[in-house]
Amino acid sequence: MTDTYPRLEIKNLKRAYGGRAVVDDVSLNIMPGQVTCLLGPSGCGKSTTLRMIAGVEIQDSGSIHVDGKLICDTVFNVPPERREIGLMFQDFALFPHLSVADNVGFGLKTGTKAERHARIKELLERVDLLRFIDGYPHQLSGGEQQRVALARALAPRPKIMLMDEPFSGLDNRLRDDIRDETLGILKEEGTAVLLVTHEPEEAMRMADEIALMRDGKIVQQGAPYNVYTRPIDRASVAFFSDANVLRAEVSGALAQTPFGRFLAPGVPDGTKVDIVFRPQHVRIDFDRAGKGPLPTATDGTAARGVVSRARFMGNESLVEFVMDYDGSILRVTVPNVFLPQPGAVMWLTIRRDKCFVFQAT
Ligand code: ATP
Repeated sequence: MTDTYPRLEIKNLKRAYGGRAVVDDVSLNIMPGQVTCLLGPSGCGKSTTLRMIAGVEIQDSGSIHVDGKLICDTVFNVPPERREIGLMFQDFALFPHLSVADNVGFGLKTGTKAERHARIKELLERVDLLRFIDGYPHQLSGGEQQRVALARALAPRPKIMLMDEPFSGLDNRLRDDIRDETLGILKEEGTAVLLVTHEPEEAMRMADEIALMRDGKIVQQGAPYNVYTRPIDRASVAFFSDANVLRAEVSGALAQTPFGRFLAPGVPDGTKVDIVFRPQHVRIDFDRAGKGPLPTATDGTAARGVVSRARFMGNESLVEFVMDYDGSILRVTVPNVFLPQPGAVMWLTIRRDKCFVFQAT
């Protein structure tokens, strides 16, 4: 009944280098077949966390359990090779002098020769590379090598797969295919996956759950939709997309801005707040042209800006405005092609239901 336990349970993991905490009280549970992405900027402690789970780095404090069984704490330590954890890194380094079959079979220590061969064949079939079974790594493309690396990591049936930016060496199109394929296989095998990435798009695409990491701590955790739509602070908004910010002061639980008033319930008078919103939630109010900043029912008040730059991005256009109210830049995305000339004057409103009000930091 291992399914009643998380496959991987990390409790209060800490690691410091030279007195600086780089992993600071990280806790995380991953269920069988679940994909969790550890997402955060470079240097926030993601790889160090992964290395401690793999057992190649020892934590200063905290514990790790697999299927409810302790694998390490500050006194007890199962060595890396006995943790039943698979690893996939960007630099996946197949052994060049070994055949594809021997690469896949490298970590298979148990079973008869026939059983090991059967497992190698099964996995190469799974990643659609059986025809290369007697080939060598240099005869394969980057994507094919990546799939061999996946087969190799899966061969001993690891309970957990740790992946550190495993797809970043591949070109875009190939990456999407291999990512989806890899995920499908890992889910079928019931492997719990912890994937490290600094790319929000990759995390949104792959994760059942995102753990957003900053300065050694997990600052927010949840399904991608929840983390994206209910960010805990300004930095969390900005990590996923461009973010526009209006600074305002609260009076009577309302923050007054050039776009109208925003509710700031429970915030004391005089407090400075940041109203944060994404470029796709700004509307160009074409009806307002020449009529001035009248309030509208859903979008508050329109504010006037002058186009400074417009760029076509593929699915949308990104238009930058210099706003009349304080000369700051406001970024707006518009679906399809919308490329107004610099100098064009427009009125803008913002989707109030998509704005976040945070205490200014
Ligand atoms: P990236 O995405 O760039 O790989 P990361 O989030 O994975 O970053 P880590 O590699 O975990 O970050 O590093 C976290 C911090 O710890 C960094 O500031 C790094 O310089 C530091 N660090 C990592 N390993 C060591 C070490 N062995 N000795 C000293 N400092 C280290």
